[in-house]
Amino acid sequence: MPLFMRSFTLPAALSSRVAPWLATAYTGALLLLLPLTPLFASLLFGRWKYLRDYAGFVRKMRIHIGALREGPALHYFEDVMGRASGVPADITGSCVQCGNCCMDKRCVFLEPINDGRYQCGIYHSPFRRLSNCGSFPLNAHDLAR
Ligand code: SF4
Repeated sequence: MPLFMRSFTLPAALSSRVAPWLATAYTGALLLLLPLTPLFASLLFGRWKYLRDYAGFVRKMRIHIGALREGPALHYFEDVMGRASGVPADITGSCVQCGNCCMDKRCVFLEPINDGRYQCGIYHSPFRRLSNCGSFPLNAHDLAR
């Protein structure tokens, strides 16, 4: 786990109790702030294309929030902040840029490149490392995906 994340982690017992509440509050707040997300994303990641394509970003953000509600938001508060890491000692293979680990291609920041491959549009940002992506892969489930 990156050093900077240690200061944000919750004790495992506490995180398992409060994680569902935090996950619901987080995705609920994102929905409430949905109209402002293109502006926030542009400012935070320094990419004005999100604001220029306002309607498109909001549409993708709705899908993104739906995907977060299927597990990644809870995973963040329960595992990433709870430091429940179980990465196998040996990891083989390499990234084929399929986009599957990016919430099954539903992340708002995922961008198609060519040959059915994808890339992260905010890979350059230190803020990305504060998300689930900064701890990926955290366990065998992450690796399987
Ligand atoms: S790596 Fe980038 S595109 Fe993939 S889920 Fe994370 S932020 Fe989204």
